[in-house]
Amino acid sequence: MMDKTYSIAIDGPAGAGKSTIARTLAKELSFCYVDTGAIYRTVAYFMDLLGISPKDVDGVNRYIDELTIGIEYDEDGVQHMIMNGMDVTSDIRTPEISQKASQVSAHRVVREVLLDMQRELARQHNVVMDGRDIGTVVLPRADVKIFLTAEPEIRAQRRTQELKDKGEKADYSQILRQIRQRDEQDTHRAIAPLKMAKDSIAVDTTHMSPEEAAAEVRRIVRERTGI
Ligand code: C5P
Repeated sequence: MMDKTYSIAIDGPAGAGKSTIARTLAKELSFCYVDTGAIYRTVAYFMDLLGISPKDVDGVNRYIDELTIGIEYDEDGVQHMIMNGMDVTSDIRTPEISQKASQVSAHRVVREVLLDMQRELARQHNVVMDGRDIGTVVLPRADVKIFLTAEPEIRAQRRTQELKDKGEKADYSQILRQIRQRDEQDTHRAIAPLKMAKDSIAVDTTHMSPEEAAAEVRRIVRERTGI
């Protein structure tokens, strides 16, 4: 029985393999996997339903208090996002919501509301948390911080394949453009931009299979924590 709460932060740009690796790691360690991108996506989806542009800071400020976000886990450990009582887990996984999440996440009010929620989860559970600012802002004292990267072309290829595997239409050039745009927005925003924490360990997954990348991250976690 562990007598302390562990937290493992995994940050990096879209398509670097964060969610696959974080999920695998959480399962192996019997930790709770927290996909923080899904929380930002839920805010974007909510604003979208209300017809509020994700760039409209006044609109977002006005309506954010009307949103209650719940996170639930099913028996397979899959994270479900509950927006005002409604399960929106699959609705938030569209390229359109990806872009809107990136825009809405730049606002201070959104980041503040979500910060408390993320920290509370880490206080209560052993977590593997993935996102953009986990190691820098959300959990600066995480036991292990990993910064996952991969060349944008490879990340776009992975996203294209993921969509095709789900039977959806996917245009590689468009996806590459969107990934570059999100990288630009996420890296250059004023609050909590995507950047590597000083005490983070970089793992470049460009030439790794998902299994190799997960094994490398598992090795680092073992080396750093002994678990
Ligand atoms: O990880 P995912 O692609 O689902 O994240 C969607 C968007 O949410 C990102 O492009 C980013 O702008 C935002 N995000 C964030 N901070 C996090 C996680 C996600 O700003 N910790």
